[in-house]
Amino acid sequence: PPAETPQIVIDAHGLPYLDSKLPVHKRVADLLSRMSLAEKAGQMTQAERGAVGSGADIAAYALGSLLSGGGSVPTPNTPEGWAKMIDGFQLRARATRFQIPLIYGVDAVHGHNNLAGATIMPHNIGIGASRDPRLAQDTGAVTAAEVRATGIPWDFAPCLCVSRDERWGRSYESFGEDPALVQSMETMIQGLQGRADGRDLSRNDKVLATAKHFAGDGGTAYGSSTTGTYTIDQGVTTVTRQQLEDIHLAPYSTAVQRGIGTVMPSYSSLDIVGDGRGAVKMHARGDMINGVLKDRMGFGGFVISDWNAIDQLPGDYAAHVRTAVNAGVDMMMVPYSYQDFSGTLVDEVKAGRISEKRIDDAVSRILTQKFRLGLFEHPYADTSGAAAIGSPAHRAVARRAAAESQVLLKNSGGLLPLRKSEKVYVAGSNADDLGNQTGGWTLTWQGASGTHTRGTTILQGMREAGGNVTYSKDASAPTDGYDAGVVVVGETPYAEGVGDVGNGHSLQLSAADQAAVDKVCAAMKCAVLIVSGRPQLVGDRLGRIDALVASWLPGTEGEGVADVLYGKRPFTGQLPVTWPKSESQLPINVGDASYDPQFPYGWGLTTLTGVPRGGTATLKALRAAATAAERLGDARAGRELVTEARLIVQQRIGERMTQAVAKPFADADHLLLTGRYGKAVEKLTEAYRVA
Ligand code: BGC
Repeated sequence: PPAETPQIVIDAHGLPYLDSKLPVHKRVADLLSRMSLAEKAGQMTQAERGAVGSGADIAAYALGSLLSGGGSVPTPNTPEGWAKMIDGFQLRARATRFQIPLIYGVDAVHGHNNLAGATIMPHNIGIGASRDPRLAQDTGAVTAAEVRATGIPWDFAPCLCVSRDERWGRSYESFGEDPALVQSMETMIQGLQGRADGRDLSRNDKVLATAKHFAGDGGTAYGSSTTGTYTIDQGVTTVTRQQLEDIHLAPYSTAVQRGIGTVMPSYSSLDIVGDGRGAVKMHARGDMINGVLKDRMGFGGFVISDWNAIDQLPGDYAAHVRTAVNAGVDMMMVPYSYQDFSGTLVDEVKAGRISEKRIDDAVSRILTQKFRLGLFEHPYADTSGAAAIGSPAHRAVARRAAAESQVLLKNSGGLLPLRKSEKVYVAGSNADDLGNQTGGWTLTWQGASGTHTRGTTILQGMREAGGNVTYSKDASAPTDGYDAGVVVVGETPYAEGVGDVGNGHSLQLSAADQAAVDKVCAAMKCAVLIVSGRPQLVGDRLGRIDALVASWLPGTEGEGVADVLYGKRPFTGQLPVTWPKSESQLPINVGDASYDPQFPYGWGLTTLTGVPRGGTATLKALRAAATAAERLGDARAGRELVTEARLIVQQRIGERMTQAVAKPFADADHLLLTGRYGKAVEKLTEAYRVA
């Protein structure tokens, strides 16, 4: 341990920073003025809980933070198990001379996904499909309540990635390909943290959130570049300055306005066309972290590095530390090398290569959040909310989310919704697999097939709905006598990287899935549900499928999917990303010069009854009304009018989706999200005329 770290425990009581009546900035200034350089370095250090053993190093290195990486869970993995483990670490932190509490963080990216029995939400891609900002907020609130009730005050979520190429293995962590869609879903931050001024953070049902990964994580190029080979994850995002602003930075302005507490830089590199710098790792980009995020956007929280990310920077270890800290990274996620980090940081400051001012700024930012979270007053777990974990009320939110996230892509002859009297033959790899339904980042980092937590599969949900259901996973002998087949296929879990490696980098359905679809659809009318983190290619098979549903990764509440299948709720979801025809079209995004998808961005049929019928005259009237709503700033009316127009156009298009129709149709959704309601109806009218 660094020699300067004081080991003596004193009663810090009575010092000004412990006075909760003082404003936070005064408490921060007082505490900071008392701290040694080694203690400051400690605050800037985050270690993996598995690396600190029983925690003696917490005091020895004055560690500021611990995390559980994906799957790093206590035994038993229960609310009490978490609370006890974290309290044990906290006790160590409280045994340092200023008793500065630790801040503990986890990746709760779709509910408290590290905890067995927690409520698991659809992954962000499904939340984006719902187009429902209120839902995003509600799922955030449930997540926060379940996480904080286990003693954890910090969540590394939400991912604000704008996913531009679905070969990226993190596509499902994205709300979608349109930055405006991502921005509209940032209500999730409010659900997690509460009000933008940070006043709610000390509540026992709120957590500090993290906007990640700043910036351009979803824009990395696929394959190899001239500088060598890299995979699409953690690769290089090459963009013009304008594209950088409009696509990848815009969501961070919104996050700052919503009071986001922390931001995590991306593993990826950024190459801005024409600036002559080439590809530079985001953790080294002072122009972006200091310049854009902190100075220009006014971000007042702290920046936490990604896992081991500084090790990817050029030069020796001292250079890694110096580069990242000077670029504006305030806390380093150095899971297993925390000893090297804090010592090196102290040496770099002593050598004058990092200024003390920079250190003070970083530590002030970290302490500010700790004070806001109320950790000095309540350092130990408040488990009074633990009874709500996985409760019916929380699962009801997840069930609604699952239902709202379903996107009905095709529905010939009105096959969906099913009637309970119909004899339904259910088949396919993902009909009865909770693990596949919840995807990656569920109990383990990568996730796994099978039953690892509590919940309902889609098949179970259909049975609970009272459906007349027979099931065969591999679709053995689907003879007739059934009114309809429901084939649930798709991906198996993965996290980061390039996705389902077993299936290559491909978006093709597996051979077994293809066979199941073919067998059932040859024998009877069939609905195909695709449970996956990203679009899967259906190609010519589409002609043989009666109804097609993008189910995304709906979480633990399969009943939500059953709700829309049986018409308890209408299908209302819309595609958050473009659904391609073939691999060769990738990347494909709304706004592309040539745009010929299988289904455009924003597509999604509805089973709402009473959908308006109408022609150009109706559309003309809707356009006038939408323009008026826009002028009056009436967003609610604007959205409703555009939705009505969209449904009219969709009815007309039917299955005749062509390139000429897809483009204006997809553009309309972007215009809707950016508040240009009149223009949106104009685009829809264009699609109507072409159709
Ligand atoms: C991911 C981050 C995550 C971190 C901590 C990294 O591999 O990129 O999104 O927050 O691990 O688990």
